[in-house]
Amino acid sequence: MTYEQTLVQRIYEIMKGLLAAKSSGRLRKVIVRCDSMESVSIAKLNTCWQEIALEPIFQASHIELHNDPPFGQCNLCNQEFELDEDTARCPHCHHEQFKILHETPTIETYEME
Ligand SMILES: [Zn+2]
Repeated sequence: MTYEQTLVQRIYEIMKGLLAAKSSGRLRKVIVRCDSMESVSIAKLNTCWQEIALEPIFQASHIELHNDPPFGQCNLCNQEFELDEDTARCPHCHHEQFKILHETPTIETYEME
């Protein structure tokens, strides 16, 4: 399975659980948040979604991806800070070694028709 397929499978399982109690309405979109270090293809996500999410409640729904900036954590002072492409040192103590904190994709919210 590709990364997108695995991710969509997980989103699908969660959404099925969330929507199981709903007696009416249809899903419009699922908003998934992940950091921009993850190279997720939104086109592939939606192709997989259409193959997996076949129940009527999912009909015509899609996945929307919101990117967050990645965060770093300083090896010296342990402060967390937002990373951009130019970040070379901790903005608090200017130490040059930090680790990148990965945020795994999560469902932020969803909207119904
Ligand atoms: Zn620091």
